[in-house]
Parts: sequence; C-alpha cells; structure tokens
Amino acid sequence: MDQKELWQAVLAQIQLQISPPNFATWFKSTRIVSQEGGFIFVSVPNSFTKEWLEQKYNRAIFKILYNLNREIRGVKYEVEKSGLQPLKKFPTYSPIPSKQLDFQELKAEGDTGLNGRYTFDNFMVGDFNELAHAAGCAVAQDPGKVYNPLFIYGGVGLGKTHLLQAIGNEVAKASNNKKVRYIPTEKFVSKVISAIRNHKIEEFKAAYQKIDVLIIDDIQFLTGKEKTQEEFFYIFNSLYEKNKQIILSSDRPPKAIPALTERLQSRFGGGMITDISLPSLEARIAILKNKCDERKVSFPDDVLEYVSSNIKKNIRELEGALNVLIASQKINNSEIDIKAAKALLRNIISSSNKIVNAKKIIHSVADFYDLKEKDLISSSRKREIVLPRQIAMYLLRQELKASFPFIGRKLGGKDHTTAIYACDKISKEIEKNENLTEEIELIKQRVLCG
Ligand code: ADP
Ligand code: MG
Repeated sequence: MDQKELWQAVLAQIQLQISPPNFATWFKSTRIVSQEGGFIFVSVPNSFTKEWLEQKYNRAIFKILYNLNREIRGVKYEVEKSGLQPLKKFPTYSPIPSKQLDFQELKAEGDTGLNGRYTFDNFMVGDFNELAHAAGCAVAQDPGKVYNPLFIYGGVGLGKTHLLQAIGNEVAKASNNKKVRYIPTEKFVSKVISAIRNHKIEEFKAAYQKIDVLIIDDIQFLTGKEKTQEEFFYIFNSLYEKNKQIILSSDRPPKAIPALTERLQSRFGGGMITDISLPSLEARIAILKNKCDERKVSFPDDVLEYVSSNIKKNIRELEGALNVLIASQKINNSEIDIKAAKALLRNIISSSNKIVNAKKIIHSVADFYDLKEKDLISSSRKREIVLPRQIAMYLLRQELKASFPFIGRKLGGKDHTTAIYACDKISKEIEKNENLTEEIELIKQRVLCG
C-alpha cells in the first residue's frame, strides 16, 4: 500500500464517522507527505486545520492507521509550505471589566455597526459552539483568506450576533485600516429600498465596494425581497472576487434559504458553513457562572443550577433570568436563596417551558417555510406546500403523540391515511437526508422558544 492508498483508506473510514460538512472542512486538502521513524506526516492547508486535526481527530486517525499498520507510532501534521501564515492560538475566556457590561447595551460605534460589548473574551466556548467559534477566530485573524464566506446558523439567542460582532471587533482592533461593516439584514433591506427611492443605488453599491469585512446578520430576512437580493448578490460577488471577507448568519442552514443557495451555491465551496447548537447543562452553568464573575456577583450553586436546568434553549433568556436575580439582590440587599429564586423567576421559567400544542407546531412550521398557516391546511398539492405539511404532521406525531385522525383533522380535515403516509415518509427521509433532519431540529427549537 503506497502513501496515497494508505491515506485513502483512512479517509474512507473517517468519512463514515463524521458529517459530510465536517469531513469536507477538515479533510479536503490533506495528504500523506512522508513516513519516517514510524511517524506519518500529513500535510494540511493551514494552521487552523492543523490545530483542529490535532485536537479533535488525531486519535481517530491514529487508530485507523495503527489498525492498518502496527508499526505506525504517531501522526504529525504540517502546514503546506505555500499555505497561510500560522494563526495565533485561539483566544480563550478571561473575565472582562464589568464596566463594559452594564445592563444597558453600549451604542454601536460610528458607521461600523459594531458594538464593543461583544468580544471573543466574553464569548464562552463549549461543544455546542466550538466549531463556529474556532472558524470565527480563524477568519478574524486572516480575513478573506481562510474561509470565505463564513456562514453561521442556529436558533434564537444562541450567540450568532455575539460571535459575528466579536469577529468584527477583533478585526477592527487588530488593524486600523481595515474597513469593517456589520449590518443586520433588515437594516440592509431598508437602506437598499431608500437608496433606490432616492436614486442613490449606485452610490450605495460603490460605498460597499470599499469594505474589507462585510458582516450581514440574519440573512433569512432576504427571503421574498427580490430587489434587495439583486443588490446583495452584486455586492457579495464583487467583494468575494476581491478576496474581501463576507460573514453571514441565519436561523437556518443556507440550503433552507432557496433564494440564497441557488445563486451562491458555488461560492459556499470555498467557505465554511457551521452551526451553533443548544448548550448542554454544564455549558449553561458555566455561562451563568462566568456572567456572575463579570458582574462581580455570586449566587448559591443550587440557584444557578435551578436556572440552568429550567432555561435550556436560549442564552439570552439565561442572561435575562440572571439580571432579575441580580436586580433583586441589589434592591433587597440580601442573598437570594433557591426559594426566592423560584418565586422571582416563576414567569420567565414557565414561559420558557411553554407547553407544546398543535397550533404552535403548525404555526412554527408555516413560519419557518415562510408560508401562511392557511396554505398548510389547504388542499394544495404544490411541492413547496406538501413537504412542510408533511413535516407538520410528523411533528404532531413526534411531539404530541397525536393520533392519525387528529393529525389529519388539524391539517384541514385530511384523511388519517394521509397522516400515516406523511409520518412514514418523513421518518424515512430523515434517515438519509441530513439537511431535512437539521431543518426539523430548528423547527422544534422554534416550537419550544416561540
Ligand atoms: P442570536 O444572535 O443567536 O439570537 P445573541 O448573539 O444575540 O444570539 O446572544 C444572545 C445573548 O446571549 C447575548 O447577550 C450574548 O452576549 C449572549 N451569549 C450568546 N452566546 C454566548 C456565549 N457563548 N457566551 C457568552 N454569552 C453568550
Ligand atoms: Mg442575532
């Protein structure tokens, strides 16, 4: 077996163990360059990939190699000579001065749209956001070079805006002459509309040509805005061609935004798409503890555990609960115990654990696919309606254990056999379609958060 075959054998097995996007991201341009003294030397395209392979995949890679050849003692990763400059170590968490973290948000500075409150230093990293964070750090250190575009998606309140802003702030801090612009999609849309109205669209586009790092938040709001989409693609393409960094966020993966994917499909190849998922209990406790340190307050462990076990889907809500506790502690000048915490947080927590019902599921599905609820319950056979309707049926079954006749009735008086067929079809489809699985997860999050 030569080096090439050996590496092919490793890749074939790794591919079975990890998701296709991860595989493409980390193993795309890797190969074995040499073998010496029992060590295998693998060449990788950049130091970001090197660190990631060393930290995350080394064991798996070694195990496979060792099974193929018992003489192998280890694996070393080398950045391809023509590759990029080494990156600094990822910033890790350290508390920041509490004056920066007042209740009130600081005003966005100048026309960059950046808010100094959001930094890498106060962004907690856990399994749920590790890849997004690492990609963000890499891009911040080498804008336009590592992953372009960078696309980050995930549910509400999980830190997309924080991360995007942190990247912008980091670039702005490192270099005075790099022009960074952060803009929420809704603001971008309204600017395009008023530029068109005032016959200033050419000036508007020209101004965007000067940007080095363009960050557009919540890009799902471009759906249905045809004219703005045109201008967005124009700006995107011209920046992309000049190797300027583009960073986008959304509440769903790009595949679930058809208008975007059709035009940008080829561009995502050189970029990175990564999600932020839900933090584990440990991560939620760690986030709360860190926020307490930043704010120079403390609460008994059982209070923090109570908050983190009851608020699961949204870091903003975790912060909100903490704010209530801090305010009460300050006003009453007395320590909050678990009983007081329960009483204070009754409203927040019961709304966070809202009961799931059929109406909410149907609403969330319609909203996710940008349809009207009445379309879902209509008898339309249009593809773009049939699939969401089947997903709604599937979720009613999964989440409510609803009977098939009930499901049929809820979706506009369909027959129970239609419901059975839909649930069956989606269950099967999920097994082979990762995107669909992901979309359904995102819808479930909305059902719980909305
Ligand atoms: P999104 O844009 O995904 O809706 P945000 O970025 O607005 O979420 O985050 C919501 C709140 O939670 C913000 O106040 C943010 O600072 C905080 N937050 C989110 N993720 C983290 C994290 N990993 N570490 C610390 N704070 C976080
Ligand atoms: Mg946001």
